[in-house]
Amino acid sequence: MASVTQLGYLGLGVKDGGAWKQFATNVLGFEVNAGDDQGTFYLRMDEYHHRFLIHPGDDDLAYIGWEVPDSQTLQAVAARLDKAGVRVTLGTRDEADTRRVLDFIKFEDPSAIPTEIYYGPYLSERLFQPTRPLTGFRTGPLGLGHLVVYQRDLEKSIAFYRDVLGLRLSDFVHLTTPQGKLTAVFFHCNPRHHSIAFVETPPLPKRINHFMVELNALDDVGLGRDVCLQRGVPIPIDLGKHTNDRMVSFYMSNPSDFMVEYGWGGRSVDDSTWQVQHWTSGSIWGHPGLNDIAAKS
Ligand code: FE
Repeated sequence: MASVTQLGYLGLGVKDGGAWKQFATNVLGFEVNAGDDQGTFYLRMDEYHHRFLIHPGDDDLAYIGWEVPDSQTLQAVAARLDKAGVRVTLGTRDEADTRRVLDFIKFEDPSAIPTEIYYGPYLSERLFQPTRPLTGFRTGPLGLGHLVVYQRDLEKSIAFYRDVLGLRLSDFVHLTTPQGKLTAVFFHCNPRHHSIAFVETPPLPKRINHFMVELNALDDVGLGRDVCLQRGVPIPIDLGKHTNDRMVSFYMSNPSDFMVEYGWGGRSVDDSTWQVQHWTSGSIWGHPGLNDIAAKS
């Protein structure tokens, strides 16, 4: 089935652009590049022109951008969305230029999260230069990393992401939290263990729980944690290793008051042998407070 192939970009709406620029360069190690209009800017972490578009907004995820290889695939996925009764809009030339893509479509996922599918990203000729010492980010065909969002109806969302967008189920994590039982569902669209995961909750103030970027070296993660400690960046969930994707990571707060997971060592999924799994804990070791935060954020 024609499918999205990677998490290509995220649009974020932020109240304090200045704080985000500082955070992106000093803590995450991303390049900040000027946008086409005032108040908008790009964050770069690899050969792509950008992986994040930052707009003035309400401190939340503004949109998710999924990549497909070509226009035929874009049309095939658009046709499936249409058949599923999802209202699809074509991106305008101006909007496509802002995203530095050849073409894209827009729609909402089952929980009304603005979602886009594009093809033809612009890759910058200029080498990516991390803004603090680090070896780099593991991206390429694996996409920018992953994100975890809230969904209103687990079954509906599973059907949408699997049968309409074409992602594949990786696994389920059933957590017992102080607030009760919670199920997280993980999906992949390339060898990265998950590009998106979600938990079912009633509507919350934010759409997003966190996004994750993966570093090329464990030392990058440790040095990033040192930077957080030196700069007083809160670490809501400290170092640990996840059960399902085997990522060694910690979670820091960003200026929009949701989390960024900074990780290393994630496993790869081979679709020819992968079987859906389930776990009853999110971590093999560490990640203190993970269950509490998953339940109440
Ligand atoms: Fe994560």
